[in-house]
Amino acid sequence: MKEEWKKQQQGLVKTIEQLREYINVTQEEEEAIAIAKEKRLTWGATPYYSALMDPDNPDCPIRQQIIPKFTEEGAQFERENYLYWKENRVEDGGSNPFSNDGRPVSIGRQYEDRIAFTVLDNCPVFCQFCFRTEATQHKQEDLRFASHVKAGFEWIEKHPEIRDVLVTGGDPLTLGDRRIEEIIRRLRAIPHVEFIRFGSRVPVALPQRITPSLMKILGGFHKVPIWINTHFNHPKEITEESARAVYDLLSCGVQVGNQAVLMKGINDDEETFIKLHKKLLTIRVRPYYLFYCEAAPGAGRFMTTVERGAELVNALRGHTTGLAQPMYVLATRIGKINLGPDSSIIAKDDKQYTLQNHRGETITIPVVPI
Ligand SMILES: *Cc1c(COP(=O)(O)O)cnc(C)c1O
Repeated sequence: MKEEWKKQQQGLVKTIEQLREYINVTQEEEEAIAIAKEKRLTWGATPYYSALMDPDNPDCPIRQQIIPKFTEEGAQFERENYLYWKENRVEDGGSNPFSNDGRPVSIGRQYEDRIAFTVLDNCPVFCQFCFRTEATQHKQEDLRFASHVKAGFEWIEKHPEIRDVLVTGGDPLTLGDRRIEEIIRRLRAIPHVEFIRFGSRVPVALPQRITPSLMKILGGFHKVPIWINTHFNHPKEITEESARAVYDLLSCGVQVGNQAVLMKGINDDEETFIKLHKKLLTIRVRPYYLFYCEAAPGAGRFMTTVERGAELVNALRGHTTGLAQPMYVLATRIGKINLGPDSSIIAKDDKQYTLQNHRGETITIPVVPI
């Protein structure tokens, strides 16, 4: 019998007819889908994830993540050829040591010790805010990562400074068991690789993928451990199935973190943001990053002010433990950049610092001389 996760993948909801089995499609959505078809953009999601959509509310946070929409307001902030620029495949005038330095297209580099290794462009949900949309949804010819995987391994083997390999895509956990096992085995055979990370939305959009046989491949005690960062953006995405997938990963020794993207109308209000982060802890997921939405084609309509993320992360403090606090960053071509919240030091003189808490109350501590 075919495994449930394969049925989910093969039954991807990706046409307007299929979509109508889940929601009452609006006129506006129908027009946007027609434009997407003209532009030959891939969109869609697993039946499991599609079933989380609200059938009657076009502002539903799941609906907005799946269904294409083209707005002029959004487009003005977007950057063409975003991925080439972001992942340093083009020259930048010489200021960046990692720009166009002869890496294969599967290797994105911004740091001395670690890289993003993109192994495919397939996904269980084609997120409308994706910063890799030119590869995943536009299927740009020169960003066919899957054909550069072999060259990627060879490049890593020749670079002893790389300790940390972040396997990404597309979604690498949509690959078959054998392929995932091969990737892990090959990376573990490289003496300088100390740990492996996977970026995957599988726990959110295809939790059925975490099968006993995949657990055997990913799990177990090993000196080169595996970390997974998944991607919950809204409390509605946290279900019994996703909680079970996370538990199964943890129970076989795989650490699970979350990387959320701050998005207008989806999670940029205090109530939703706090609920998301509280709920992540109840399913054992440790929030890692909150990303400011990147200016990739199609993502502009989700962008907020930069300050908004810092305000929200600051607001969390009064409602839940520090375990729920993500780092708020912007991912750029020169690395991740910390966007706050700003330091809580509001004044300093010769003798003392004045610190402020989340309620605006202050406390002083002495200045220790250098
Ligand atoms: C995000 C990213 C990493 C990993 O960054 P961490 O801050 O270590 O999680 C590494 N390489 C590239 C190219 C990245 O975009």
